[in-house]
Amino acid sequence: MKDTVFIESFEERVKNTIEKYRLIEAGERVAVACSGGKDSTAALYILDKLGYNPDAVIIDLEIGEYSGKNLENLRGFCAGKGIKLHAISIKDAVGHTIPFISAAMSREGFGPCHACGILKRWLLNKMAREMGFDKVATGHNLDDEAQNIFMNFVQGNLGFCAGLGPVSGHAEGGMFVERIKPLYFCPEEETRRYSQIIGFPVVYEPCPLSADTFRTFIKGELDNLEAAMPGAKRNMADNLVAMLPALRRQYKQSGKMRKCRKCGEPSRSEVCRACELLGRWG
Ligand SMILES: [Zn+2]
Repeated sequence: MKDTVFIESFEERVKNTIEKYRLIEAGERVAVACSGGKDSTAALYILDKLGYNPDAVIIDLEIGEYSGKNLENLRGFCAGKGIKLHAISIKDAVGHTIPFISAAMSREGFGPCHACGILKRWLLNKMAREMGFDKVATGHNLDDEAQNIFMNFVQGNLGFCAGLGPVSGHAEGGMFVERIKPLYFCPEEETRRYSQIIGFPVVYEPCPLSADTFRTFIKGELDNLEAAMPGAKRNMADNLVAMLPALRRQYKQSGKMRKCRKCGEPSRSEVCRACELLGRWG
């Protein structure tokens, strides 16, 4: 497919996803959770191009040069487009850098991405709500979603699938800012091509700390499946979307959401997972 045709069809798919699943309603304020990588930068670029006037939010994970480069790239990109950027350092927010936290957690047998994932979600929700955003858009693509579905199935965690889909984060009391995935139906490979054609100033290497061995294994298996059965990943996402209403009814949490005793963020237990983590270092 010619580059110009590809770009058009990619953007059209994102536009259709936003409209069909009503990811953004008229007048809503959207923040794009950026990492400085190709996926979130593409989501930011397209939402801006479609006229949704998004702001960008980035959590500086303070992973040495890698984080510095991502932040610098995103600053330049947002300045060029006139997009407002909100940057917050994880150290300022929670007192420690991700390398420190990951090293501490690995001594307790957790993988390096475990704490980072929990803290990013916690901080993003808190920031987005405090700044009055209606939606937080992420760069999750079709491959990410297919991996999530596959992992939940093979680990016997069907209930976790209720939290997937193009829109997630519905919760009682409006404590969660809804998360939306405009690139939901865009395969990783196409997002990469899109990013390279437009020439986004992004780092393509993965995070130097990342070592989610199970996800990497699942990714390899899914890529094999896709090669043998083109369309497999898309079918998985389509099926998940079709099952979502039933899944959400079935797995509607019996335990009500409440506010974390320490931070006031939504939590299923008295103290949320982020505060439980952070409590380890005083
Ligand atoms: Zn908390």
